[in-house]
Amino acid sequence: MSAELRIPLDIKEVEIISTELTKTGQIIIEVESTLDKTECGICGEEIRCTYGHGDERTFRHLPILGMATYIKFRPKRGECQKCDTNPTTTQVVEWYQERSPHTKAYDQWLMKQLINTTIEDVSMRENIGYDAVIGALDRQIDTKVNWSEIDDLGTIGIDEISRHKGRKSYSAIVSCRQKNGQTHVLAVLPDRKKRR
Ligand SMILES: [Zn+2]
Repeated sequence: MSAELRIPLDIKEVEIISTELTKTGQIIIEVESTLDKTECGICGEEIRCTYGHGDERTFRHLPILGMATYIKFRPKRGECQKCDTNPTTTQVVEWYQERSPHTKAYDQWLMKQLINTTIEDVSMRENIGYDAVIGALDRQIDTKVNWSEIDDLGTIGIDEISRHKGRKSYSAIVSCRQKNGQTHVLAVLPDRKKRR
């Protein structure tokens, strides 16, 4: 028996149902939300999530020991008793954005991978499509910085990331490298040098 390791999943308010290491070296972690409430999509009242589950979804998450890691999840659903038609709403959770194939943690991690390199490089290294990296970039534009995680700004860097080969369309990643060696992405700016 080889040594085993316990590490935190870095996703809040879920419990792990199962984990699987596939033959192709991917890790698949099935989770369930531990929250049992959400807001009705129509009236905004808090409702209990006792109306089954939505379709199963899979999100790319932070790699574990260099292996591509996926989170498998079926969001809970709730039914509103106050609205006339008793509409159902899918529970909104903190750790992914609607229509994103990645967890928020993975999107943020991709931004760090883009520092000093290109979208093509990251796409190849991570074995994800070029558009998946662009999608992550776009989702990071206008996101807020969690300043409580940042003790000192250290060295600030601005990386211009070419969005398309041979075209003047850039995004910029503003990051800081703290004295403790940690890198934080402070902002992603859209179309920095686009000239019309
Ligand atoms: Zn309602």
